[in-house]
Amino acid sequence: MNEIGPHVTPPRSRGVFCNRTLNFRSLHAIGYDMDYTLVNYRVDIFERQVYEYARERFLEQGWPVRSLVFDQGMVARGLVIDTQLGNIVKANRFGLIRRAQHGTRPLTFAEQREAYAGTQVDLSDPRWVFLNTLFSLSEGCLYAQMVDLLDARSLPEVLGYRELYVRVRDVVDAQHMEGRLKAGIIASPEECVVLDPETALTLLDQRNAGKKLLLITNSDWTFSSAMMSYSFDRFLPGDMTWRDLFDLVIVGARKPEFFTSRAPFFQVVTGDGMLRPTVGPLQPGVAYMGGSAAQVEKDLGIGGDEILYVGDHMFGDVHMSKSEFRWRTALILRELEAEVEALESFAGAERTIAVMMEEKERLEDQLSQARLELQRLKGGYGPRPSSAQHELEARLQELRARLLPLDMEIAPLARAATELTNGRWGLLTRAGNDKSHLARQVERYADVYTSRVSNFLYATPFVYLRSPRGSLPHDPTSPGGTSNLPLSEGGGE
Ligand code: IMP
Ligand code: MG
Repeated sequence: MNEIGPHVTPPRSRGVFCNRTLNFRSLHAIGYDMDYTLVNYRVDIFERQVYEYARERFLEQGWPVRSLVFDQGMVARGLVIDTQLGNIVKANRFGLIRRAQHGTRPLTFAEQREAYAGTQVDLSDPRWVFLNTLFSLSEGCLYAQMVDLLDARSLPEVLGYRELYVRVRDVVDAQHMEGRLKAGIIASPEECVVLDPETALTLLDQRNAGKKLLLITNSDWTFSSAMMSYSFDRFLPGDMTWRDLFDLVIVGARKPEFFTSRAPFFQVVTGDGMLRPTVGPLQPGVAYMGGSAAQVEKDLGIGGDEILYVGDHMFGDVHMSKSEFRWRTALILRELEAEVEALESFAGAERTIAVMMEEKERLEDQLSQARLELQRLKGGYGPRPSSAQHELEARLQELRARLLPLDMEIAPLARAATELTNGRWGLLTRAGNDKSHLARQVERYADVYTSRVSNFLYATPFVYLRSPRGSLPHDPTSPGGTSNLPLSEGGGE
């Protein structure tokens, strides 16, 4: 840990990115989610295991799933299952669908348009299921593959796409509840848990800077204590354990209901998780099960913008804590590191695209002007044309001839831009040229977002994170617009 000095600047991929200004000095408490937030798992192990157990269950029911294999890139966080049509879709910030696959087969542009012209993803409609977290990858992959089986009429029951989704959901859900998944991980955590030695120091720094630290996880006591102990104790000084980091430990929190219910807290009284009803207010240093955010605020005497909650679940952690309690929020987006690195390595190509697009727009503009002149000339109206008809026609032809090779040069680069990090779906935060639906939700509900908790180490517990100035299409620095007026000339900026 010694190499982490105050002067160390992390790579950009480990940055803390800010949507709304957040002053750490005014925070009294920082609450943490556990799974995929404080404790990170290898998706290829954890999600494959969930998938495998779920597949076994279907196999026992006589479903033809013997040859199915978990494919980590089949879906991605932020995609949406369309349970009505058996599709997986990627939507942009307006909810318009920019890419889709039916089962495991990508839809052609024409198929996509036919299925979705005029359709907007509305997550309040149960038709759509948003993939909120890395836990969603096993379910999404299995559902896509099952849709293929349903279409091939290979399933032993007659089901619609929605019913099929409910079946997959129930079986995947059950795997998280049944003992064997968690027991396996507890037995050999080294196979599945990715240790981050910097996380313990991050929390120590925050605690010593006077922040109350809270752990609020949906996992049960047995799993939580095993994972936290494995991930933290080895990196803490002396005989300090993970328990000493937190003022309050809440397991089995049942988020998102935790943010809306008034459920009672139970005290965890023994190492193996025996429970006792709580009497009176929450006590520091005690571990609890269940409960509600409302009581946390009341008993700690802090609330609203004095609490930062850090989690990986777009809805259960970030959306709900923001919308119900106006807590400050941080989203942990593990995939961001690969995303930022891919964007950085593609920056040169991106600049080339921008230059070519500028040229394309210039030519298109000239083409439109020439067409309009020709139209007016033929229609015998409007101002006197600048050229004769045959000259305008020749001009049109020349411009079209110049646009064609330009388009052919742009196309492969533009395609490569949409395939970064995942050939099927591209970047998590982009949909075509626009922000993705996930990016829009991050913007709305997460005050800050970052790839992992230990990035706060570099930021320090005293950081004042400032959001960048928002940009709009009419900003002088934004490309595009249809005006031909050179705004920067003649002091017109
Ligand atoms: P947290 O992220 O620390 O709040 O904990 C997430 C817990 O929810 C873990 O114990 C997961 O195994 C569990 N979990 C994740 N997905 C599902 C699901 O689909 N059904 C039930 N439990 C789940
Ligand atoms: Mg989590």
